Amino acid sequence: MEITSDEMKKTIEKFYQMLDEVSPLDFDCGKLCGAACCGTDQNDYETSQLGLYLMPGEELMYENSDEFELYCIDSDDEDYFQDELYLVACKNPPHCNRKIRPIQCRTFPLIPHISEDGNFHLILDENEFPYECPIIRDNMKLNDDFIQVNYKVWRKLINNPLVYELIESDSRIRDEQKDEYEIII
Ligand code: SF4
Ligand code: SF4
Repeated sequence: MEITSDEMKKTIEKFYQMLDEVSPLDFDCGKLCGAACCGTDQNDYETSQLGLYLMPGEELMYENSDEFELYCIDSDDEDYFQDELYLVACKNPPHCNRKIRPIQCRTFPLIPHISEDGNFHLILDENEFPYECPIIRDNMKLNDDFIQVNYKVWRKLINNPLVYELIESDSRIRDEQKDEYEIII
């Protein structure tokens, strides 16, 4: 049965609501770093120059937004992604319409990982960024409810085969490169 745009939007809104109720630390972690992951820490980089990857269907949230620039890259550009891939760029970071900031912003610094034996985990995002996240650098303890809600949301997101495929592919690359990562849950 095909899912309608309205149904898809409602699902994404539900994920946003769940993630709105938690945060990585008990205070605004942006105060530790000048909101570095929004590209406002005086480094020579801005998120407005970088795209934030969207989950399938999440692009529907940005169709009428003045605060984000929505764009799509061709599947040919990504050898492991079989469909259109949408990104948004924020026009005025760190100010954005918080109600529709992408899942990627809400779940950082956790990212999903699927082990070789098929177990699903969340790990700290140790990809190279043009900024330093103090939570990752100092291995700060994340709020338990943040971890639990993230886990629930990602478990639902990986029901989409496209998302599962993308995460599994990233996980195998991580393992092949023998990148170190910390399993959080
Ligand atoms: S870089 Fe890390 S500490 Fe800074 S705002 Fe982003 S998540 Fe919080
Ligand atoms: S969408 Fe908002 S929270 Fe996410 S990087 Fe842009 S300004 Fe920061």
